[in-house]
Amino acid sequence: MIPISAIKRLRGILGEGNLLTDEPMAAHTTFRVGGPADAFATPDSIEAVGAVAAFCREGGIPLYVMGCGSNLLVADAGLRGVVLRIGPKLADVQVEGEQVRVQAGATNAKVARAALEAGLGGFEFAAGIPGSLGGAAIMNAGAYGGELRDVARAVTCLSPAGEVVRLSAAEADWGYRRSMMGERGYIVLGAELRLQPDDPAVIRQRMDDLAARRNRKQPLDMPSAGSTFKRPEGHFAGKLIQDAGFQGYRVGGAEVSRKHAGFVVNAGDATAADIRQLMDDVAAGVAERFGVALQPEVRLWGFGDS
Ligand SMILES: Cc1cc2nc3c(=O)[nH]c(=O)nc-3n(C[C@H](O)[C@H](O)[C@H](O)COP(=O)(O)OP(=O)(O)OC[C@H]3O[C@@H](n4cnc5c(N)ncnc54)[C@H](O)[C@@H]3O)c2cc1C
Repeated sequence: MIPISAIKRLRGILGEGNLLTDEPMAAHTTFRVGGPADAFATPDSIEAVGAVAAFCREGGIPLYVMGCGSNLLVADAGLRGVVLRIGPKLADVQVEGEQVRVQAGATNAKVARAALEAGLGGFEFAAGIPGSLGGAAIMNAGAYGGELRDVARAVTCLSPAGEVVRLSAAEADWGYRRSMMGERGYIVLGAELRLQPDDPAVIRQRMDDLAARRNRKQPLDMPSAGSTFKRPEGHFAGKLIQDAGFQGYRVGGAEVSRKHAGFVVNAGDATAADIRQLMDDVAAGVAERFGVALQPEVRLWGFGDS
């Protein structure tokens, strides 16, 4: 547990109402699992983000930065340290010509709506990815042939040393579900996107088509974190899992989705331990059957070995 004095200091930095203690992470992750975080901060300014990061850095307090929690598996024991949620309080979206300036807490859905209203195309692929722009920048989120790196020109970040820096796309070094920022501990504050003028009716049609494809293929009615594993070179994780006989496989309340084997779902009362065990079982089964090592796409927090 972090000391009461640190909580008081954080409350001073963040302001009343922007800090919760002993906050269940199940309430903040799309898997709907995860134990309590010592401190859960929802800063409403870039300055507060910087001050919390500095306070944690100087005090040796673990800091976990999150957006919408749609790619996280948090352990049942929770998190000792501070969770910094960059969400709706830092979610401004501004359109200037073909450029869209977005704060990291804006959801992809909000950005897609703003682009549609401004008659700008190119972001439709992300409209149904249930995360924040910050999470998308860290993960280089992608779907249906598009990825964040196709549309992002630059990102503004807080560096590990505490400086606000503007990184070009080359410096962000995006790859498949990875970025330099994710690997080096940068906090994403915002991004500049470059989109193309297009007919709003056509943009809307593309968004509707992709949403319909998602609905048909994915178990959107059940808690999950999307694709559990990364796509291994030359394969599809879901197909390997299905062919290894794991579709519908259960550990406690965790289940390999019957609709899409690439998704692990919380079928009711799953614990994080259930989900983790199921992931380990599936990865071991696929390795044994096909000799392919599945790597989690979902970020594991608080498991000790992750
Ligand atoms: C139903 C469903 C469908 C999905 N479909 C897709 C899909 O098609 N394509 C896809 O790529 N993903 C998909 N996902 C996964 C997920 O939505 C993406 O990975 C998304 O980009 C995560 O964003 P987030 O804000 O939720 O990040 P979080 O889950 O909160 O965090 C994910 C990672 O990003 C880091 N992070 C988040 N915000 C910041 C920030 N501001 N600064 C620094 N680090 C940060 C966290 O530390 C963590 O490492 C899906 C998930 C669900 C539940």
